[in-house]
Amino acid sequence: MKRLGILTSGGDAPGMNAAIRAAVRTATRLGVQMVGYLDGYCGLVRGAFVELDDRAVGNIIQRGGTILGTSRCPEFFDPEVRAQAANQMKLDGVDGLIVIGGDGSFRGALALQDECGVAVAGLPGTIDNDVWGTEESIGFDTAVNTALLAIDQLRDTGESTGMMFFVEVMGRTSGAIALHTAVAGGAAGVVVPEAHAEIGLVIERIRETMAKGKRSHIIVVAEGDEAGGAFGVAPIIGKALDRPYRVVVLGHTQRGGRPTMRDRLVASEGGAMAVEALVAGRTGVMIGRQGGRSVEVNLRDVVNNGHPPVNAGLLRLAQQLSG
Ligand code: ATP
Repeated sequence: MKRLGILTSGGDAPGMNAAIRAAVRTATRLGVQMVGYLDGYCGLVRGAFVELDDRAVGNIIQRGGTILGTSRCPEFFDPEVRAQAANQMKLDGVDGLIVIGGDGSFRGALALQDECGVAVAGLPGTIDNDVWGTEESIGFDTAVNTALLAIDQLRDTGESTGMMFFVEVMGRTSGAIALHTAVAGGAAGVVVPEAHAEIGLVIERIRETMAKGKRSHIIVVAEGDEAGGAFGVAPIIGKALDRPYRVVVLGHTQRGGRPTMRDRLVASEGGAMAVEALVAGRTGVMIGRQGGRSVEVNLRDVVNNGHPPVNAGLLRLAQQLSG
């Protein structure tokens, strides 16, 4: 392995830059050159890349987003376009690829490996934390902390005015951000796509707490909930309780910002291990987190297993601690 490519694909996530930095610097130590393809698979197909050396990745560990740019690249679903990308890599003298993204990006990487023999390694980089085989993906911790900051601020105004707030957080079809935000933020309730039916329980719990004199309530809603996110859930709960409410959509604020220590650490370990795996000849792996450690996971298992189930224990805890 003489020259490796790296790209970021799908949604951006804080910590992606820390992963790029770690990969580049590990490659340098191992005598391997590195190039960064721009804007995800679109740059790979066009052969749009920048040379990355130790200095090119200086002063980025603390920056959110991705210096390489990212995109969703629909043409990469076409096998002919993937063959073109593999040819382009040969022309660029690149003999392996690190893909930082979510499970969709990994499907693309695996197809590139299976169809064109390209050596690939994946790093889970998505705020949604919806990738099988890892307890946390790069960006998740920062996104939850950003949501927590908003909730802490809403608490001040909620407590003063007695207002009920519905806070919509990101996560696409996953309730992971909502659940972690609700528990860590001490929310009065949480509504997630994986357990939408429990909305009745949320109403009951809030009614009980109102009877005990609780003045303000914050309910965290995952954007992917079937009622249509917070704007769909709020009228249902507001009407059932006959309470006025406000809806706050945090949206893309959760995608940006300085990565937390956790995300920088997970990204740094992952970036280094992805390079080490490829250089050692191990392809088709993802660097995940299991038992609090970075480990190699089979990429095919990641893709075949779909999204991990909701953390049922945390869901129970969210309901139990609302008082
Ligand atoms: P996030 O969770 O942050 O949205 P993701 O990687 O799951 O990240 P997707 O939009 O699903 O995001 O995929 C990103 C890109 O990966 C797609 O735009 C496409 O270029 C490529 N991709 C996704 N699925 C496939 C597939 N089945 N075959 C080939 N390429 C794919």
